[in-house]
Amino acid sequence: MNMVSDTFGRPLTTLRVSVTDRCNMRCRYCMPEEQYIWLPRESILTFEEIARLVGVFAPLGVDRVRLTGGEPLLRQELDTLVTLLTRVPGVRDVALTTNGVFLAEHAPRLRHAGLHRVTVSLDTLRPERLRDFARSPRHADIVAGIAAARHVGFPVKINSVVIRGFNDDELAELLEFGRAHGAEVRFIEYMDVGGATHWAPDLVVSRQEILDRLAARYGPITPAAGKARPAAPADEFRLADGTAFGIIASTTAPFCGTCDRTRLTADGHLFLCLYAATGVDLQLPLRSGATDAELAGLITPAWQGRRDRGAEERLVVAGRGALYSRAGLRADPHREMHTRGG
Ligand code: SAM
Ligand code: SF4
Ligand code: SF4
Repeated sequence: MNMVSDTFGRPLTTLRVSVTDRCNMRCRYCMPEEQYIWLPRESILTFEEIARLVGVFAPLGVDRVRLTGGEPLLRQELDTLVTLLTRVPGVRDVALTTNGVFLAEHAPRLRHAGLHRVTVSLDTLRPERLRDFARSPRHADIVAGIAAARHVGFPVKINSVVIRGFNDDELAELLEFGRAHGAEVRFIEYMDVGGATHWAPDLVVSRQEILDRLAARYGPITPAAGKARPAAPADEFRLADGTAFGIIASTTAPFCGTCDRTRLTADGHLFLCLYAATGVDLQLPLRSGATDAELAGLITPAWQGRRDRGAEERLVVAGRGALYSRAGLRADPHREMHTRGG
C-alpha cells in the first residue's frame, strides 16, 4: 500500500464510480433540461475496465467504492461489476446510490454479488410530486425497492434533497417513513453544482432550518457524539425517541477539510472535486495499453497536487447563482452532476 495524500493532507480513500450518465428520471435539481448531450456509447468503460482502474486506485488508499450515475441500475447486470469489485484486494466496502426504481428486481442478485450497502434517493412521499418534480410515475416502485433491499438484508439509507417550496413540508413524514422501513434518512442541502441550473440561494433549506423544524415537531434533537468516519459527509442526530438521521450540509457548512472523495466518470475521467473544472483522462491511457504502474503514475501526482475545496470556495461568491448555465453545461457534459455521479 502506497497511500497518497493531497496538499491539505487529505487521503484518497473513497472512489465514486459513475457507471452511466443516463437516467430514467429527470430530478429538477439534477437534470432539469429537455435535452442532454450524452457521453458516446463507445466511450463508456466496460466492467472489466472499471475493475482494473479500481485495482489501480486500491493500493493508493481507496478502500471504499460507491457505484452511482446517472442511474446505475440502467447498466445491465450491475451485479457482475459488484462481484469484480469485491474481489479487488483492499476494497472492503462497495455501495450503491440509486433512484430505486429498478431496485426491487435487482436487490437479491446485488446482495448475492456481495454489495455491502444501498442508498436510495427519495425526496417525496407523494407520487404526484415525483411525477411533477422528477417526471417519473414510478413512486411505488421506489418504495418497493427500499422494502426489497431491506428484505434481502441490506443496510439502507434514504437521501432526500430538501428544496424550499417542493418538499420542505415533508421532513417529518420522510423521517417517519425511514423509521418504518428501517432506513436512516439523510437530508441533503440543495447544491449549486453541475446540472442544478435552477439553483438559487432562497431554495436552499439549511441544516439549521431543518433542525429547527424537526425540533418544533419532535422536541430536543441531540447531535451524535461523533461521526462514524471523520470524512463522512453527514452530521448525525437523534430524536428523543432514538430515531437517528443525518444532514449533509454541503451548501451552508461544507466539509471540504476532510474530503477524501474522488470521482470516476463513466468514460474514465477522474475528477478531484464535485466542483472541479477539469479532470484527468484515464480512459485514453487505459485503452492505449498503459500498465497499472503507469496509470498509478497519473493518479498519484494528480491527487498529491489536489487543492480543491470547491464548496467552501463557493461560500464567498457574491451574488451566488447556479455554477453553470445551460450553455456552460452543453459545452462540456463532464460538468453535469449525472456525469460526475453526485
Ligand atoms: N441516480 C442515482 C440517485 O439519484 O440516487 C445516483 C446518481 S445522483 C446524481 C446521486 C445523488 O446526487 C442523489 O442522492 C441526488 O439526490 C444527489 N444530487 C443530485 N443533484 C443534487 C443537487 N443539486 N444538490 C444536492 N444533491 C444532489
Ligand atoms: Fe435524479 Fe439521480 Fe437521475 Fe439525477 S441521476 S436525475 S438525482 S435519479
Ligand atoms: Fe470534496 Fe469538493 Fe465536495 Fe469539498 S466540494 S467536499 S472538496 S468534492
